[in-house]
Amino acid sequence: MSEPLLRITGLHTNYGKIAILRDVSLTVGEGELVALLGLNGAGKTTTIRSILGLTAPLSGSITYEGREIAGWPAYKTARLGVGYVPEGRRMFKELTTLENLQLAENGRTGDWTIDRVLEALPKLAELRSRKAGRLSGGEQEMLAIGRALVANPRLLLVDEPSQGLAPLIVEDVYAMLATLRARGTSILLVEQNALLALKVADRAYVLDSGRIVYSGDAKELASDRARVRTLMGLEAAS
Ligand code: ATP
Repeated sequence: MSEPLLRITGLHTNYGKIAILRDVSLTVGEGELVALLGLNGAGKTTTIRSILGLTAPLSGSITYEGREIAGWPAYKTARLGVGYVPEGRRMFKELTTLENLQLAENGRTGDWTIDRVLEALPKLAELRSRKAGRLSGGEQEMLAIGRALVANPRLLLVDEPSQGLAPLIVEDVYAMLATLRARGTSILLVEQNALLALKVADRAYVLDSGRIVYSGDAKELASDRARVRTLMGLEAAS
């Protein structure tokens, strides 16, 4: 089998002296959508922060396209083609949707031009002239994804896209992720809402107190509600 796009092996990350990630290993293959699930505080965001060097790992290996990137600063990893859609979205509220995309594009070239992004994501196209500060939470999430795309990532790290959104908008955001996956973008999707993420994911990992407690096929896990309940509690399984 060829080397996966992203491979994390035996990752340990601390905040100060407190161990957060303990021996985390996972992979994301070319074109795969992989869900990283777990309850609040399980260590999902810390995993993304470790990949991006926002919190330097204590030990372990992170390879991207076969190259060791553990401890690299985020800007360097981004240059290799790793995109990030942060939790909480963060954008320029006084600028329009289009202006936010233009800022993110910033002279970069590749398959995903602004026109292509707006064509693939028509909901975003409808909002092109609206100021980001006037977008709903779901619309801001879509813009955050569009903004990451114009940098032409090969791998997109998406942190809790459903957080704080109404169910109908969550469906739109997830449809967008499914579109990207169908077009060949590899995605590592962090979610607390397990069943939602499992619907679009190829494979899944579950984190509990910083350890991987499940790794396997997404559909298989989704069909085993008792397992989801054991891994992530009653709410995640309903
Ligand atoms: P959430 O869904 O709440 O974001 P998560 O699975 O992403 O959960 P993390 O944000 O990775 O969890 O947090 C893992 C643990 O690390 C939690 O116990 C959290 O309190 C702790 N933590 C997060 N950030 C820091 C920090 N800057 N300093 C110290 N501890 C932190």
